[in-house]
Amino acid sequence: MAFDFDLFVIGAGSGGVRAARFSAGFGARVAVAESRYLGGTCVNVGCVPKKLLVYGAHYAEDFEQARGYGWSTGEPVFDWPSLIANKNREIQRLNGIYRNLLLDNGVTLLEGHAHLCDAHTVEVDGQRYSAANILIATGGWPQIPDIPGREHAIDSNDAFYLPELPKRVLVVGGGYIAVEFASIFNGLGASTSLLYRRDLFLRGFDKAVRVHLRDELLKKGMDLQFNADIARIDKRPDGSLAATLKDGRVLETDCVFYATGRRPMLDNLGLENLDIRLDERGFIQVDEAYRTSEPSVFAIGDVIGRVQLTPVALAEGMAVARHLFKPEEYRPVDYQTIPTAVFSLPNIATVGMTEEQAREAGHKVTVYESRFRPMKLTLTDSLERTLMKLVVDAESDRVLGCHMVGPEAGEIIQGLAVALKAGATKRVFDDTIGIHPTAAEEFVTMRIPTAI
Ligand code: FAD
Ligand code: NDP
Repeated sequence: MAFDFDLFVIGAGSGGVRAARFSAGFGARVAVAESRYLGGTCVNVGCVPKKLLVYGAHYAEDFEQARGYGWSTGEPVFDWPSLIANKNREIQRLNGIYRNLLLDNGVTLLEGHAHLCDAHTVEVDGQRYSAANILIATGGWPQIPDIPGREHAIDSNDAFYLPELPKRVLVVGGGYIAVEFASIFNGLGASTSLLYRRDLFLRGFDKAVRVHLRDELLKKGMDLQFNADIARIDKRPDGSLAATLKDGRVLETDCVFYATGRRPMLDNLGLENLDIRLDERGFIQVDEAYRTSEPSVFAIGDVIGRVQLTPVALAEGMAVARHLFKPEEYRPVDYQTIPTAVFSLPNIATVGMTEEQAREAGHKVTVYESRFRPMKLTLTDSLERTLMKLVVDAESDRVLGCHMVGPEAGEIIQGLAVALKAGATKRVFDDTIGIHPTAAEEFVTMRIPTAI
């Protein structure tokens, strides 16, 4: 049977665009349907605008610290609508770049909601298209628990378009988004509380990192409420909100922001017309080649719920393109040692095992830790400290994990991720000459174990 396309991609986000443009580059006839915004979550309501807001928030400290270097400025004034308008302009520019990336590679772009009719047919705006292969790359969506008054709460999609900066914010959750947005609001001057249901946020990160960040956020004046959860939210006549906690306390605020995870985006996708299995959390189940239980339908990125990071969606999109149209270059995605950063203020970045994971996996572990005041802050009143930590396998000398809390942590750990991928030992770190004076050199000069 002759199909309209060799590949029909649903979703022009990180994974979908990567798969579409490389497949087209390999000679396939490709269509992409996008219902909302080109570039997907990362470009529109994720990584990119988030990092711009983090930069914006850091300026508050920069103005303070500049005084130590002899600069005197007037009282800095922050204008949220200007930041949002400039951010929106940048996103529009990126939307255009994504459009060109697709069109220049010969991909057919259909701007509308895609609905699956059967394992080879997709409908967009009443028009049906047939395809030999279909790729679901529809991403995820924020989820807010079903509590009374949830309609008064906002999620990360809303936060990027708030008309004004709230004076008081309650951020709920203890993952990436909660910690990053609490840092943004706190940095920009909102009175910020972060509520997390267990005793320490960022579950899954190294304990030393979690404790260090907690202490740094407290120094910056953030109100951290652990073992706390909201039972209901009520709106007061004056427009303010009252959040009643499960322990009976009532917190007054102007904005309740939920960052409690993301669900797969399967709304009105037509999955009921196909035989596609979901896992127990509701994400699409795929095999090692990203094939669903329908042999002609593939799925990648956040909608499969493996690792919800843009570079992972990109790698999965690349793998599908190669698997289908350039099999001689196919390489499976390696999910080991994925580096990651949390753009809190200060930043966290990490690659490899935490100390807890290494011990649990049965490694005899040697730990190296360094805590210091970043050189740039020595002429300032800032009390911020940096943490660097190496987790080493005592028997093989192999470095199992690198962890950092401090300025530019992501930039530093990205380089170390290459070393870990190459299997570097602590001896290799020790034999590496540092770059002086930098913070990063500390990673190659830690000699005395702090724990064994
Ligand atoms: P998406 O990028 O979500 O793309 C899916 C696309 O499909 C969307 O454009 C959607 O409109 C479209 N779509 C859905 N259904 C349909 C349909 N039926 N028809 C047509 N189109 C449809 N990751 C990082 O690596 N670093 C970060 O700093 C980072 N920061 C983040 C900050 C926030 C606030 C959030 C929410 C996420 C962040 N992420 C970050 C995660 C990252 O954005 C995602 O992992 C990544 O975007 C997933 O890509 P994807 O292709 O799976 O889906
Ligand atoms: P996460 O899964 O990272 O964190 C969710 C948090 O919400 C956890 O602390 C969880 O607690 C808590 N939670 C879940 N359900 C409830 C509930 N019903 N009531 C109260 N608390 C709850 O999700 P995020 O929304 O922060 O981010 C989604 C994903 O997007 C991330 O996992 C990450 O992959 C990606 N992302 C990446 C970024 C980056 O690379 N810098 C930045 C932002 C997002 P518990 O620990 O108890 O489960």
